[in-house]
Amino acid sequence: MSGHPLRIGILHGDDIGHEIVPASVEVAKAAAGLYGVAIDWQPLPIGAAALQSHGHTLPPGTMEALKTLDGWILGPIGHRAYPKVAHAINPHPILRKQFNLFANVRPTRSYPDLGCLHDGVDLVIVRENNEGFQPDRNMVMGSGEFRPTDEVTLSVRVITRTGSRRVARAAFELARQRRKHLTYVHKDTVFKLSCGMFVEECQKLAAEYPDVRVDDVIVDTFAMRLVRDPQSFDVVVTTNMFGDILSDEAAGLVGGLGMAPGLCIGDGDVAMAQATHGSAPDIAGRGIANPYAMIESTRMMFDWLGHSRGNAGAVRMAAAMSQATTAALADAEARTGDVHGRGNTATFTQAILRELRNAR
Ligand code: ATP
Ligand code: MG
Repeated sequence: MSGHPLRIGILHGDDIGHEIVPASVEVAKAAAGLYGVAIDWQPLPIGAAALQSHGHTLPPGTMEALKTLDGWILGPIGHRAYPKVAHAINPHPILRKQFNLFANVRPTRSYPDLGCLHDGVDLVIVRENNEGFQPDRNMVMGSGEFRPTDEVTLSVRVITRTGSRRVARAAFELARQRRKHLTYVHKDTVFKLSCGMFVEECQKLAAEYPDVRVDDVIVDTFAMRLVRDPQSFDVVVTTNMFGDILSDEAAGLVGGLGMAPGLCIGDGDVAMAQATHGSAPDIAGRGIANPYAMIESTRMMFDWLGHSRGNAGAVRMAAAMSQATTAALADAEARTGDVHGRGNTATFTQAILRELRNAR
């Protein structure tokens, strides 16, 4: 065993979360066993189930427990279906703010035979996670939306220097570990002050990273180029809402939301594995959800923790998970229907477990 046990939370979330989070934990437990990584797993209540059992979608006990962890797997949250009561809040924005998880790292990669629109896609969108338009009631600007008269509504978008600089730095660091190419995406032609500030901070940082090639692309042009020529991008950094929209577009290039993982990180030392997709109530309970995005988000968390903790076993474990997942995706009998497979959540998970054991 290398290092101290990693303390990892398991938060199912809602709907398909009850299917894909257990699949992710099963894969991670198997990989940890094979590569000698000590993990202290802590299941914690959240979401609709927690509202039932604890009277709160984010119980105070869960919040306290998270503060003692190295990281956690957060399943998708079906907050739009929550009853309109005081303790039925959407936990996402609170968790991101409380733990200062300002960078949402969302990779997009194409695999053969999955119905991808292009081959050879391998890019990462780093989305600012805590600023921008803020329609959540816990935020700095109150609701973030105002209706001064019945005819007029204002939405407030917050961009700060600190917020821009820190997400840009996370993206430059990532670019340095990859193909050393960073694209910052904005609309400073129109939003001269807000996007302008984001651009200024990206440009200042570029001077600190002379080894990274930097491109500046306006968001509408980027949306078009992402469809036509996604292979021309490596790491992309952008503000909150642009990043949210563009990462769903990117997922559409490579088989859809089931293929869109994500990791939330900050300058603290915790990481939150969170897939890009929602809780997919339309397919919940049928055992057909694609667990790839959640499993890959989990893998990213162990890789990140491995590097940040100097835990070589966790890095090896993450590499093995990646290899096994890629191999299982090639098996059309095992993978799920959304990516042109004939399998389901269980068959895909079993295929990954088989690949893990065979590779060891
Ligand atoms: P949110 O507002 O939380 O992002 P959403 O409205 O974007 O939610 P999702 O829950 O992400 O909606 O679902 C969008 C579509 O993608 C649905 O048809 C859903 O079934 C499908 N989908 C999402 N995740 C998966 C998955 N892991 N496997 C298969 N299909 C999925
Ligand atoms: Mg969505």
